[in-house]
Amino acid sequence: MSDPQQQQMIREAMKSIAERKPGRTKLVYDKTKRTIVAVAEGAQAPRALNITADDADMFAVATLSSAWLRENWTQLARDGSILTSLSSWDGGDALTHSVLGVQPSPIVEEGVIFLDGAASPATDSLRIKLSPAATGSKTAFAAPDGKSYDAICARIRTGEEEKIDVFFADVQPELATRRSGILESTVLHDKGVLIIGLGTGGAHAAVELAKCGVGRFILVDRDRLGVGNVVRHPGGISQVGRYKVNVVRDLIHEKNPAADVTALQVEVGYENQDQVKALVAGADLVICGTDNRPSKLLINQLCIEGNKPALYGGAFRRAYGGQVLRVRPKQSPCQQCFVSAMPDEASDVEVSTTEDAEAIAYSDQPVAVEPGLSLDVLPIANMLTKLALLDLLSDKETSLAVLKRDFDAPWYLWLNRPEPGTQYANWPPLSESSDEMTIHRWYGIYFERDPECPACGNFLGSLAGHYGIDLGSLEDLPALPGKES
Ligand SMILES: [Zn+2]
Repeated sequence: MSDPQQQQMIREAMKSIAERKPGRTKLVYDKTKRTIVAVAEGAQAPRALNITADDADMFAVATLSSAWLRENWTQLARDGSILTSLSSWDGGDALTHSVLGVQPSPIVEEGVIFLDGAASPATDSLRIKLSPAATGSKTAFAAPDGKSYDAICARIRTGEEEKIDVFFADVQPELATRRSGILESTVLHDKGVLIIGLGTGGAHAAVELAKCGVGRFILVDRDRLGVGNVVRHPGGISQVGRYKVNVVRDLIHEKNPAADVTALQVEVGYENQDQVKALVAGADLVICGTDNRPSKLLINQLCIEGNKPALYGGAFRRAYGGQVLRVRPKQSPCQQCFVSAMPDEASDVEVSTTEDAEAIAYSDQPVAVEPGLSLDVLPIANMLTKLALLDLLSDKETSLAVLKRDFDAPWYLWLNRPEPGTQYANWPPLSESSDEMTIHRWYGIYFERDPECPACGNFLGSLAGHYGIDLGSLEDLPALPGKES
């Protein structure tokens, strides 16, 4: 675009499109040059396609919060105008009302919203005028005064006035209207999920459950988001250094501004088990995404005591596969039963400390981490979320109830590849197997509760029976699982 005359003509054509009025020049697509050119109105432009405002989405767009306008209507109606601010994105191409969402742009533009008929504010800021809408307009803002309004925004740039299209976003409609807003359903707004461990799996589950409309989250993790996390974690590079619970809280609010989120920067351990116990009691479901055995077994014990269903998800080392365990207290095997029944599978996801987990990043061998690690973690995170959703819906009317028979097993196994050196190395190729186990298929696997499980079984009774000890003589001991039976 070095031709100054072309440049001037293009500029004129764009201006006339922006002002929605015919100009002396028009834009065409020149098929020979394979580019957009400006031609004088009336000139013959063979082998060219006309370009109109309908083809060229070239207007900047501003989005205003309907809820904010409703809340501030009294002041706007009284004064004729009101100040506000908008996040500016992409060089000013998109302006989003700062009150929408929790992650504003680093560039904020001031704006004045004023009513048609009030004096146009003398300002270099954005001027947003509300005028009575055409009858039957579907995009208009329904104001508390009973009237509907359209808006147009004017911005001064390089000495010229530019028009900006204005849209209204009603993300939190008034409860009285009973509209579902941005969420597809409000059926889960009364459900609360405690998520312990906000690594890739826990964070992914949290964001997906927010999209499902879960209304309450308690997030527990004491780690900060590191640079090495962002290729897998929903949080991005601009969030590095923040506590993961705060990053995920903001991501949840980006999906559902009405969600009630408690973010706790704590590590689950025996020293704060009373606090965790209270959190378990306040949740409908517990999701455990931690990868060390002591914390999993503690959470397991507290969930059984609190009679709360829990899900334990984890990727195997270097994410060659993964698993999800669902525990329904005293009905299905617990985490402790699982460790007893399948010690290899239980230990495959574990590292001794969270620091180790960060350091090896799913890689316990001196090999390069293959591309696609995040892809390999997501199937497990998805299953975790699906099982969570089904559990949260268990007392609701839902068409997903048909899935009860499919997701009936306590343990779910997934393999991304037949990892050499593992018991899965000799699984047949995906394309050659119809009845043998293969990669990239979920397997629901049944195993029995351990009747002598220290967490959910009659451990003490069994032990006492074995040694001929009268349990009544242990009355001074704290309550332990199995003692009541
Ligand atoms: Zn058990």
